[in-house]
Amino acid sequence: MTAQKLFLERVAEMIADVDGPVLELGLGNGRTFDHLREILPGREIFVFDRAVTAHPASIPDGDHMIIGEIRDTLAYCGPRVKRPAALVHCDLGTGDPTADLAKAAWLAPQISERTAPGGYVASGIALDMPGFEEMPRSADAELGRYWLYRKA
Ligand code: SAM
Repeated sequence: MTAQKLFLERVAEMIADVDGPVLELGLGNGRTFDHLREILPGREIFVFDRAVTAHPASIPDGDHMIIGEIRDTLAYCGPRVKRPAALVHCDLGTGDPTADLAKAAWLAPQISERTAPGGYVASGIALDMPGFEEMPRSADAELGRYWLYRKA
C-alpha cells in the first residue's frame, strides 16, 4: 500500500467522531476519490475540479461533482454542501513553490471557513491555518508529503 493510502486511512480513523462531509479538492484521475469512498463508506464526499477527466467509474454523481475554479466554487458551495466538512483533502500542489504559495494564500482561509470544529485538513501544500493545530508529521505524512491540520 502506498504512503498516501496509509496516511488517508489513518486520517479516516481520526474523523470517525466528527460529523460532516468530505471535500476532495482536485479530482484528477479519481484515484484518491476512489480510495476515500472505499475507506469512508456512507460519508458524503463532494469533489471539486475545474474539469472532469477521470474514468467514468471514478467520478461522483452530479450532485457531488462541483465543477469550476476552486477559488470560486469553494467560496460559494455553502448552499450545496450545507454542512462544514469533517475532512478537507487538498491535492492541488503544482510542484512550483511560487505558484503553491500564491495558491495557499487564497485557499487557506476558504478551507478554514468550510471545516467543522474538530475537523481535519490534509494538504499537499503547506497552509497557514490560524485556529488550527498542525499535527505532527508521521512517517506516512512525510512519505506522502502531506501537512495535516486539526481545527480547534
Ligand atoms: N487526487 C487526484 C487523484 O488522485 O487523481 C489528483 C489531483 S491532481 C494532482 C490536481 C487536480 O486539481 C487536477 O485535476 C486539476 O484540474 C485540479 N485543479 C488544480 N488547481 C485547480 C483550481 N484552482 N481550480 C480547480 N481545479 C484545480
